[in-house]
Amino acid sequence: MKARLSGGHFRMLNEKLYTCSGDEALNYFKENPELFNVYHAGYQEQMLHWPEQPVNIITKWLKDHSPSLVVADFGCGDARLARSVKNKVWSLDLVANDPSVIACDMSNTPLESSSVDVAVFCLSLMGTNYSSFLREALRVLKPRGWLLIAEVKSRLDPNTGGGDPNKFLKAICELGFTMESKDFSNKMFVLFYLKKKEKQNSVNKDINWPELKPCIYKRR
Ligand code: SAH
Repeated sequence: MKARLSGGHFRMLNEKLYTCSGDEALNYFKENPELFNVYHAGYQEQMLHWPEQPVNIITKWLKDHSPSLVVADFGCGDARLARSVKNKVWSLDLVANDPSVIACDMSNTPLESSSVDVAVFCLSLMGTNYSSFLREALRVLKPRGWLLIAEVKSRLDPNTGGGDPNKFLKAICELGFTMESKDFSNKMFVLFYLKKKEKQNSVNKDINWPELKPCIYKRR
């Protein structure tokens, strides 16, 4: 009974995060900080059913690169990434459930401009204003810095009502990145590896960001 109730709570919070903006989500958890643990307990339970977790792939990617790279983990959850690598990792999330985490809305972080080598979004492009999270990553990244995105596959599957991955990538490239590689091989998530352009576009033209379908978890 208790598990059922908290499962329902998790699904409600999950849907909330996908259907509100980052600052609304920040205020919501400021008023109800205890719900963040309910959300994460449910999230971890869902992840147990995934054959592979994207955070492990990103961990491996970092281990295959220099440990001197400074990382910003946007929407870090329980900050597993920071605990798994030698790199300096700025862990950012709405609530700091560990002293190492910076509590903020990730569209507005306290990180310095051009100070980070790798910006990570691992299943965290959740807000309706997700483009402002990517804009913030662009700001904090050094020129030629990496942007790594792992997202739930169904959110970017036009056959099931998701956003068009090509439009998504086109928008990110217009923002100021170049595509390095993508990986659609995993059943549950897609991975994109991009780099911040050396020189940024001077004109800030209107970018057409596709809507990403909320990932609604089934009742188990
Ligand atoms: N990256 C972690 C956690 C993914 S769950 C992992 O792979 O295990 C998604 C996380 O993004 C949640 O912890 C949620 O609180 C966070 N998040 C969503 N919107 C956010 C925002 N606007 N600012 C900061 N964190 C956000």
